[in-house]
Amino acid sequence: MAVYVLDKTGKPLMPCSEKRARLLLERGRARVHRLAPLVIRLVDRRLADSAVQPLTLKLDPGSRFTGMALVRERRKRVSVLSLLELVHRGAAIRKALEQRAGFRRRRRSQNLRHRAPRFNNRTRPAGWLAPSLRHRLDTTLSWVARIRRWAPITALAVERVKFDLQAMQSPEISGLEYQQGELAGYTVREYLLEKWSRRCAYCAAENVPLEIEHIIPRSNGGSDRVSNLTLACRPCNQRKGNRPIEAFLKGQPELLARITARAKTPLHDAAAVNATRNALFVALLKTGLPVATGSGAQTKYNRRRLGIPKTHALDAGCVGEVEAVSGWQRPTLSIKATGRGEYQRTRLTAHGFPRGYLTRQKRHFGFQTGDQVKASVPGGKKAGVHQGRVAVRQSGSFNIQTPAGVVQGIAHRLCILIQRADGYAYAQNPTFDRAQPQQEAARTGAR
Ligand SMILES: [Zn+2]
Repeated sequence: MAVYVLDKTGKPLMPCSEKRARLLLERGRARVHRLAPLVIRLVDRRLADSAVQPLTLKLDPGSRFTGMALVRERRKRVSVLSLLELVHRGAAIRKALEQRAGFRRRRRSQNLRHRAPRFNNRTRPAGWLAPSLRHRLDTTLSWVARIRRWAPITALAVERVKFDLQAMQSPEISGLEYQQGELAGYTVREYLLEKWSRRCAYCAAENVPLEIEHIIPRSNGGSDRVSNLTLACRPCNQRKGNRPIEAFLKGQPELLARITARAKTPLHDAAAVNATRNALFVALLKTGLPVATGSGAQTKYNRRRLGIPKTHALDAGCVGEVEAVSGWQRPTLSIKATGRGEYQRTRLTAHGFPRGYLTRQKRHFGFQTGDQVKASVPGGKKAGVHQGRVAVRQSGSFNIQTPAGVVQGIAHRLCILIQRADGYAYAQNPTFDRAQPQQEAARTGAR
């Protein structure tokens, strides 16, 4: 993994290798500026005295993950310096807001029944995005800004995906006509293959011819809408016939629940990407750097042609016009958005009744939940050195989330602060050095 390097005044220099960073630190020529991701600061060098090459930050924005690749680009030949993967928490935000709305709704209907409904006078500004989408945009931009502080980035490249679903909703053709066209059939089938992971929805058979199947049969009033379609192998399709799915899967309640849940699930992820793609592009243009764009198909073509496995960060490396990619066999830094705690101080039961209260202050004994700490426990059952994300308690007995699991009840006196909480958790994903076929098939809602 590349180590970011700053000069003595904090201006970005070319990233270096881990080995070089270790030597610089050992010889006292550099200080650790930040641990995750590792940034060092040279004590004896100025930007003016060093050679800096132009770097490009490539982005593959997705709904759950955004891949980022820091590369050096010369005549369409890309050499990868650093791979990052940003894990969004849009789903968590949406769930929290839905829960809050539910609690408020209950309070209003139970306690304020007499109150007249208020006039619907709330408007949303132009370009408004739902909080879960806003978060995707904000975290992505925040990481672009951070990496710009640590590396001499001179250009950006971003994949501008647009899902085919959009084309199906184009006003020129009515939905039904479009679906019966040859191309439309192909698009629908491709979409279904992605949605149902390329296997029979009922018996999970893979690598067999799959037929498009109506969950609610046409004869029972089921529509041709994509949300009513699934994939089945020939035997399953024939056995189901025109029975409703409830009758067909009578003995398998879990499978029934899974299929009906997925059937109702629209393309959340695709919709999220479609909704934010322009906003992200416009925001990236505002950085003042040149922004190149590429299509999703182009990325996939590049990746397949060059035999590069499918990960979010490597996808980012393949964005745009690329002839060759080198140095991609390296681990990925996974950056997971964790939030910075909750505003609400009351913990509630599933029914909205208070279960317990969080403390008013977030910091105890100089630590805050989310800080990276290292604890050396001299003896007892938890003897050893534990390093990871801390969860604080008022009592001073902390929990530490280590890669091996949670270590409970560590005294605050034993903890040493490594890095303050910044709303993200960091982990290293292993190197992928060859394509994995099942990974290709199983991915959903990526890009
Ligand atoms: Zn089957």
